[in-house]
Amino acid sequence: MQLLEERIRRDGKVRAGGVLKVDGFLNHQMDVELFEAMAREWHRLYAGAGVNKILTIEASGIGIAVFVAKEFGCPCIFAKKTQTRNIDGSVYTSRVESFTHGRVYDVIVARDFLGPGDRVLIIDDFLAKGAALLGLSKLVEDSGAELVGAGIAVEKAFQDGGKLVRERGIRVESLARIASMDSETGVTFC
Ligand code: 5GP
Repeated sequence: MQLLEERIRRDGKVRAGGVLKVDGFLNHQMDVELFEAMAREWHRLYAGAGVNKILTIEASGIGIAVFVAKEFGCPCIFAKKTQTRNIDGSVYTSRVESFTHGRVYDVIVARDFLGPGDRVLIIDDFLAKGAALLGLSKLVEDSGAELVGAGIAVEKAFQDGGKLVRERGIRVESLARIASMDSETGVTFC
């Protein structure tokens, strides 16, 4: 998606360890016009797929996912990060290893909000090693819902998450795919 690529070229900052900072329009200050355009694009890509739930993970996926849910006219659910053990079985749980924070945490979704008959589109800001996306897809699978696919804003295609997830048969539509990035030369797209 040209609009997003241009914005990354203009305002993205390449940090050590293969991290792209996009705080000016995506992860801290949010450009809602851009979010709206991104949501329209995923709506076009997944038209006719019968999506009736949008699923994301807190925190940075939420802003984007809300616009996508508005496009599809359906609810938006965000998986919560938690340290509380699931003792009463009222939630689906999955373990996720954070790429940016380098630690493992549990994510949960209440059973009330996801189940058989649901057709789920997962939305997230980044795809790096694929842990977040695979964790969310496990929640969908455990719930008995159908995973339609994923919409990713920025896929770092030089990391192996995209390959890993697609190999599992999950459809992934990324709006910007980064082939390489360097603090000197900037970002190149696939
Ligand atoms: P993965 O689980 O695919 O390794 O990483 C995805 C998650 O890590 C995303 O939800 C995102 O929050 C975060 N992330 C991964 N790489 C980057 C990056 O380069 N920049 C930022 N801002 N977040 C990232």
